[in-house]
Amino acid sequence: MGTCCNNNNKSEESRFSISLERPRSSINLQSLPIVNTVSSSDSSLFVHIDEIMAYENQSLKNDSCTKHQEDTPFITANSLDQAEFKCPCAGFFIWQTDIVFWYYEKYGNWNIHCNFCNSYFSKSAWKCSTCDKILCRNCGNAKGMHPLIEYCTNQHELIWTPNISAYYSEEYKKSTYICEICKRNKNEPSWSCRDCEYNICIHCGIIKCLVPPLNPLICDEKNPLVFNRRSNTSSLCSKCHETSGRNSYNCTSCNYSLCNSCSELTIRSIIPHPGLRCKRNHNLIVTKVDDIKAKSGKWLICMKCDNINMKYGYLCLICCECYCLKCGDDIVKMILNYTGVKCGKGHCLFWNPLYESNDSENICSVCWKKTYSGCFRCENCRINVCEDDVSR
Ligand SMILES: [Zn+2]
Ligand SMILES: [Zn+2]
Ligand SMILES: [Zn+2]
Ligand SMILES: [Zn+2]
Ligand SMILES: [Zn+2]
Ligand SMILES: [Zn+2]
Ligand SMILES: [Zn+2]
Ligand SMILES: [Zn+2]
Repeated sequence: MGTCCNNNNKSEESRFSISLERPRSSINLQSLPIVNTVSSSDSSLFVHIDEIMAYENQSLKNDSCTKHQEDTPFITANSLDQAEFKCPCAGFFIWQTDIVFWYYEKYGNWNIHCNFCNSYFSKSAWKCSTCDKILCRNCGNAKGMHPLIEYCTNQHELIWTPNISAYYSEEYKKSTYICEICKRNKNEPSWSCRDCEYNICIHCGIIKCLVPPLNPLICDEKNPLVFNRRSNTSSLCSKCHETSGRNSYNCTSCNYSLCNSCSELTIRSIIPHPGLRCKRNHNLIVTKVDDIKAKSGKWLICMKCDNINMKYGYLCLICCECYCLKCGDDIVKMILNYTGVKCGKGHCLFWNPLYESNDSENICSVCWKKTYSGCFRCENCRINVCEDDVSR
């Protein structure tokens, strides 16, 4: 019996037998589908639909469960649906999950401006395939367009969560989660509701037309790497320079290759939003705190909650500043939900991860507490609003 037949069977027994499965101690990344995203590859604007179709067909073939087939939406149907909505320039609006990263690469900030209602936001939206005009969710919804979003059973929007396995190691001492759709133990990135611990794996997400915002497995020329099962021919890892005959990711046009553990580290280290930065504006990566503690000889303290006992965190390797996973993920949620809300004088507030050089401005203008981590800021009024107060 295929595991997919458990889809509608939520009895205690089946759940129990699944959760008893022994979590693997060493992670073997499964073959991730190839996804070209706007920001990680200049060569292609769109997801390689044909590759997803090929993947989909293959997974359907492996599946004898007909119920599952009926439930699987076809990506072509969605593309046609979207194609009905045209930009004034006659180009098509495409739902873009990586628009925040694309915008950040292009303009150096993550505060996206809707070209139609002039509001600001920092989450996925539509972009015209021809003229790059951006259409926010509110404007799209008003036109009857449907964003490609999935929800948990409590109707919370699922958020792209590349570091899900770090979260499970931290909370449950195992690096795998169970995908709500295929019911398999997975360690790959997911779309998740953290509050409800509802996760769907990257493979199932893609079948549901979700697109991962970033493909981190690319070569120096930004070509997506292809998964190779363990073979007799060993390959040299371009990162750790070890030779191994185990699973690897390889570029088909150059000889760039990533071994299993380097590809795992690469995937786990990516951040879900470009606004997660240290106070001196360096990139953060998700990594094991102990390794950095040992190397730097420094204590690592979460800038937001003062946690010192974390296993993983969002770290700046230059300053050794960090957010614990929970605070980092909370910040991402705040950026998604509150970018563009107005200050008392009607200006937009934006997430600002940095320390102000004038120290008297590092204080929340609502609760008057000093702000040690990033916070929301009105540049016109030169005021900060802490995360607790921006949501009120
Ligand atoms: Zn708009
Ligand atoms: Zn256009
Ligand atoms: Zn799945
Ligand atoms: Zn939820
Ligand atoms: Zn390696
Ligand atoms: Zn924290
Ligand atoms: Zn730094
Ligand atoms: Zn203001």
